[in-house]
Amino acid sequence: MFDNLSDKLDKALHVLKGHGSITEVNVAETLKEVRRALLDADVNFKTAKEFTNTVKEKALGQNVLTTLQPGQLMVKLVKDELTELMGGETAGINLSGAPTVILMSGLQGSGKTTFSGKLANYLKTKKTKKPLLVACDIYRPAAINQLHVVGDQIGVEVYSEPENKNPVQIAQNAIAHAKQNGFNVVIVDTAGRLAIDEAMMTEIANVHKAINPQETLFVVDAMTGQDAVNTAKAFNDRLNFDGVVLTKLDGDTRGGAAISIKSVVDKPIKFIGTGEKMDAIDVFHPARMADRILG
Ligand code: GDP
Repeated sequence: MFDNLSDKLDKALHVLKGHGSITEVNVAETLKEVRRALLDADVNFKTAKEFTNTVKEKALGQNVLTTLQPGQLMVKLVKDELTELMGGETAGINLSGAPTVILMSGLQGSGKTTFSGKLANYLKTKKTKKPLLVACDIYRPAAINQLHVVGDQIGVEVYSEPENKNPVQIAQNAIAHAKQNGFNVVIVDTAGRLAIDEAMMTEIANVHKAINPQETLFVVDAMTGQDAVNTAKAFNDRLNFDGVVLTKLDGDTRGGAAISIKSVVDKPIKFIGTGEKMDAIDVFHPARMADRILG
């Protein structure tokens, strides 16, 4: 994973590792390579530039040039800064509320339905919760069926009203159903479109307003690179979501989305999806991700 970025950073930093003594020019040149590697991995320009400027300032501030192992110090600085850029600490999920209501948002194909199932499974097994999945896609009957299949796989009940064309009502009825039947987490899967669309945004904003969720998660396909950042921004402008789920990190994907999204929308990445199976879910660890990116 992230071989491109990691290899390039490795090469860039190798220049420093190999030098007994280095100059300010070496630092600048290495950081130029680091910046190029970040840009190649689809990190947006502003983020990459700010990143390298910060590392440079810190490097010079810590007298990296006069230390015995300047290369190692630089590697540490780059890693620490990359970790910070992705949020520093692991961000938790808010499980308050009776029941906790979690709203899933994102484009069609991002992995929303799959992730809804994974999250239900995760909460059930790791946090001993009793989740209810809710199918709120009123356009694609196949989407409702898909959630039922997922629910069957993990043994979690799925609430749906195939005849009802009002997603706000479905979500509200589902919460009432949860309260009456002892479910303490309600995960609402919503309709997505292939691209940002005003009708979809208005619909999910209405559902959001009506059910006032504890957590609104934005699901995005990590393979979509710079587009992931633009989509995140559009959804965040409407929903002011609480966290990001980065899916398909098992694929031949670039690391750019993970790095840029946090800095552009200033919301933490909370979970990652690493496969199609129901247990392919992980809490997002910024430091671990930085390690993986840098190799
Ligand atoms: P939705 O339209 O947003 O609900 O997206 P789906 O949940 O239907 O996912 C779209 C496709 O991506 C499906 O074929 C999923 O199996 C696949 N998918 C979802 N998450 C992951 C992931 O983390 N890794 C991989 N490799 N595939 C995923």
